Amino acid sequence: MVDKSFDFAKESEKMASDSVHYQKMMDEYLYYRQYLSAGKERYSDYELERSRAFNIRNKAFKNYDKLLVDFETNFIKNGGKVVWACNADEAVESIVNILNENDLKNIVKSKDYVINEIDLYNVLIDKGFNVEDIDINEYLLKLAADRVDLNLINYDNKTSDDVSQILSKKFKKDFADDAPLLLKYISDILKDKISVSDTIITGADFLVSDNGSVVIGENEGYIIESLSQANVHIIIAGIEKVIPSWNDLSVLLPLSKIYDDAIDNCSSMISIINNNSDYGKKHKLYLVLLDNGRSEVFAEEKQKTVLTCLHCGACQKVCPITNIISKSLYENSNYGPVGTVLIPLINKSEDYSHYCNLCTSCGQCEDVCPINISLRDLIFCNRLKFTKKESIFTKDGLLYYFISNRLKNRKNMDKGGYKMKNKELRLLLGKTWGVKREIPVFAENSFSQYWKKLNGLEK
Ligand code: SF4
Repeated sequence: MVDKSFDFAKESEKMASDSVHYQKMMDEYLYYRQYLSAGKERYSDYELERSRAFNIRNKAFKNYDKLLVDFETNFIKNGGKVVWACNADEAVESIVNILNENDLKNIVKSKDYVINEIDLYNVLIDKGFNVEDIDINEYLLKLAADRVDLNLINYDNKTSDDVSQILSKKFKKDFADDAPLLLKYISDILKDKISVSDTIITGADFLVSDNGSVVIGENEGYIIESLSQANVHIIIAGIEKVIPSWNDLSVLLPLSKIYDDAIDNCSSMISIINNNSDYGKKHKLYLVLLDNGRSEVFAEEKQKTVLTCLHCGACQKVCPITNIISKSLYENSNYGPVGTVLIPLINKSEDYSHYCNLCTSCGQCEDVCPINISLRDLIFCNRLKFTKKESIFTKDGLLYYFISNRLKNRKNMDKGGYKMKNKELRLLLGKTWGVKREIPVFAENSFSQYWKKLNGLEK
């Protein structure tokens, strides 16, 4: 539900004029760019692999019902239990029931994408469960108690100084700005939490239909460690995670990690969960398959392709809008270009139509997307679907009436001369243009006039 007290435009403006945020964002963006070219260079024919991935995912949409049912059958054969959840409430309720039925209290969680989507953490805490993060980023986010800390910690490319500040504030003692020591300190805390856990809750990267496997990637190894400690593993995954075959993983899995810096230092780890007996007799495995509006996105002819997303994160890291306003302003675990497409579709409310404007059409997201999703087109489709047709008697209406009228023919475009055009533009854009940029100024001669003069074509 949209938080009515949250003024998106106001908060965005505040964030966009925050120079500390801007500098951090630029540092992170430039740091990330090196991985973009390195990632593509790992392939002898990147474009071919990209289109293979696109075809695998899009073909699967044609018989998704069957793929899901086959996956369920095979997952059960492997010893797991499947719960179908239509929405967030059903998913949360079923997880609480599993925890109560098995008398579980101490939970560790990781891969929070869907966990955050259904707001599971807050519900479990309210109900008295002990829930701990074993993903370092999420752990630090939880430690960051206020907005200043959150902004400090919001960057994937955190400095050791950022981390030492958060830890010092939280634990009320000085932490040296020393990355290995800080990492060791956090790692010891997480390992202690894992050692007393009875349950692990995670998301998933892929659900493989033809053998019922669940694929979970991570960079830190705490999921693998938790799987050997906890007696119960609850996986929560969106229905779009199902892929047809085990063989498809050879294409999709490397592409999902294509820009991952962890690949360079060999710290990327994959757990493939396909036989419950791997964990011993006591271990129980549950999978909550979540719809939560996805079926309706599947019904959209064009926008459904956003569900082929591999969650590599690249489009979010290169999007100028996401970088400028920061991911913390998106009211959903989906942020960046994917969120811009998904949030209005899933919520189907005009309250979310402002997301349709969060795109400059720069196309960087499409360039980097390893599965070739035409994000710009999809955002444009959403604009057509969700943006209300404005009356021309509003400022924007008048502006667009003026522009379209002027653009109808050359004569109209030059009518009144440059002084008149500048006056009209100032009148129409007024305060909506903002105080931080100047309204563009028409040149004395239009290009057409200049060209005619240059070529002696004036009448
Ligand atoms: S849509 Fe974005 S996050 Fe998803 S695969 Fe493409 S680039 Fe990666």
